Amino acid sequence: MKKTYKKDINMFKKDFPYFQNSNTIYLDNAASTQKPKCVIDSQVEYYEKYCANIHRSSFSHANKATKNYENTRKILKNFINARCIEEIIFTKGVTESINFIASSYAKEFKTVIISSLEHHSNIVPWHMQGRELNRGLEVVSCDDNLNFNMQHFEELLKQNPKSFVSITHISNAFGKIHDIKSIIHLAHKYKAVVMIDAAQSLAHFKVDMQELEVDFFVMSGHKTFAPTGLGAIYIKKEHLKNVQAYQTGGATIHEVDYNSSTLLNSPYKFEAGTQNIVGVIGFSKALEYILSIGYEKIETIENDLYIYLDEELRKLDDIIFYNDINKAIGSRSFNFKNIFHDDIAILLDKMNIALRVGHHCAQPIMKHLNIKGTIRVSLAFYNDKNDIDKLIKALKKALSILKK
Ligand code: PMP
Repeated sequence: MKKTYKKDINMFKKDFPYFQNSNTIYLDNAASTQKPKCVIDSQVEYYEKYCANIHRSSFSHANKATKNYENTRKILKNFINARCIEEIIFTKGVTESINFIASSYAKEFKTVIISSLEHHSNIVPWHMQGRELNRGLEVVSCDDNLNFNMQHFEELLKQNPKSFVSITHISNAFGKIHDIKSIIHLAHKYKAVVMIDAAQSLAHFKVDMQELEVDFFVMSGHKTFAPTGLGAIYIKKEHLKNVQAYQTGGATIHEVDYNSSTLLNSPYKFEAGTQNIVGVIGFSKALEYILSIGYEKIETIENDLYIYLDEELRKLDDIIFYNDINKAIGSRSFNFKNIFHDDIAILLDKMNIALRVGHHCAQPIMKHLNIKGTIRVSLAFYNDKNDIDKLIKALKKALSILKK
């Protein structure tokens, strides 16, 4: 069948069937990104042509599925510059990855240090261990622009040497980028072990495990143009022997009898049960797609767009921001004086603008700012100025209705 593209969509959106099938201005990329055709095709191809379980049967389709699944591990290893495939473990996503490391490894640490901008996924697992503020959980303060307070971080590290530090790279709610290289470096000076929540990272930045020297790095597939229900953890090789399997069962075992079981080595011992095979295969296509565009281009486009978004939003009356755009990317959060953000979302949806309002799974920072939530625009490289112009026009219209 001949492909029909909408004429008015940009060259990147042409790679994403969603934009050919919909007039929606999609500005909710921090929640989940759209998927390029190559990712979708790989899902269909697996289900239609070689659907089989992996690491078990030895017929040719099962072998092909295993090969493609394992190939993603190699591609991700190279993508983030890990040292070996043992360091790459597939999970359901960042939430599962943090729960895994929290419950199987980090529970041994007396103190866990997080930032003020964490997603609930990097707060609740610590509460589930009975930790509270100043009782096993410490929170690094931020300034009026939501910048991470490095001095406070060092004080906490000094008071609590050998802590577990778990910090987000990019805030999903406000777009603030933490200087993770300096954070990791400082934490290591005080013998801390560091996990980075990189849910928002791979869609925007190149990351390099050797350069960062990070201990644990947790990634999300669905925020990186890949299928949902899929994520990965990088575990630095030296920690593998100390991380316990979070779940066990089929595919993780070396030998079982009724008295005991022995497990395989990493990564297999950490991937219990039938995995999200099709999701993992799709992830490799998403990573290859990103490489085909290149992070240099992605960063340039996004930086320009982010500045344009900020400039245009600033022209609107009674807009309230909570941070500047220095060291920020992707998400821009705001409110309008005396306007409830939910009302904006309802009106914008009627004008085909997709964005998120609310607390963005970051209630503690919202409470700190004394707000219920924000209106959040979150960009990906396939957005363009046309999207922002349409957003601004819709916001003006919504405001004129709500101010009547
Ligand atoms: N951390 C951050 C910073 C996030 O943005 C998200 C997703 N909104 C998560 C964790 C949870 O990620 P996942 O959906 O992969 O579980």
